[in-house]
Amino acid sequence: MVKCYAASLGNCSDTQSREHCIPKALWSVPKINVEGFSWTHKNTEPLPVKNLASKILCTTHNSALSYLDAECQRLFQTVETFHAKQLARGNLPRSSLWKVDRADFEGTILERIFIKIAICIAQHEKDLRWAGTNSEAIDPPKEVINALFGKCPLVSPMGLYFAMSVGELVTNEESVRIQTIRHPNTECFVGAFIAIRDWQWLINLSDTEFSHYTARSMSGQQIGKDGTPPDYHLETVNFAAKGKLSGQINIDWDRVDH
Ligand SMILES: [Zn+2]
Repeated sequence: MVKCYAASLGNCSDTQSREHCIPKALWSVPKINVEGFSWTHKNTEPLPVKNLASKILCTTHNSALSYLDAECQRLFQTVETFHAKQLARGNLPRSSLWKVDRADFEGTILERIFIKIAICIAQHEKDLRWAGTNSEAIDPPKEVINALFGKCPLVSPMGLYFAMSVGELVTNEESVRIQTIRHPNTECFVGAFIAIRDWQWLINLSDTEFSHYTARSMSGQQIGKDGTPPDYHLETVNFAAKGKLSGQINIDWDRVDH
């Protein structure tokens, strides 16, 4: 039988597809550093990219989401390019002039990209259940699925947060670091901390404020409860060099597609 976490939407095809948690086109190498799953350990050998794939969508629902994979790839390619330029411009004389690089993204699309990654991460953890519905990993809450397929955006405090702390260095290393965030009483899945190429994001898939939970950033800083609040619906990411703007990513949250 075809396994599909979007089965509640109906219309599943009878063909199983294989889903990569993070689009494999993001990586230039066959193995990446993966940390944070209950089955991975710190400082182990890089894992083959294919280990982060599983059979959790039918072909119909997988192809309905292929646009998100393309945008995910564009996002991280942009980040990589802007970061490389920022480093190069940092070595230029202070008087150098340049044209600021700019790129635009749609906020709800980015949010959907991280919902998709979080659902996939949930499938890789044993016996995980969703907060709110207490359903199995393969059966996410209806509002999460509706948001993923662009039917109805998540409502705050659910949604995407940016979780970089001041002073944290980005190396763009080919890596994925995740933490599943669990409800303090029930251990149910409420969301995930996801760092791709060192860029750190939080996706909250429960209606409880993130300030009740704790995650730790890559440099060990506490995020959420008793720590730095992450930025909800971040609108700009600036890349500076020599005290001047080198690149800017703008994220538009106003365009809501129903
Ligand atoms: Zn399906």
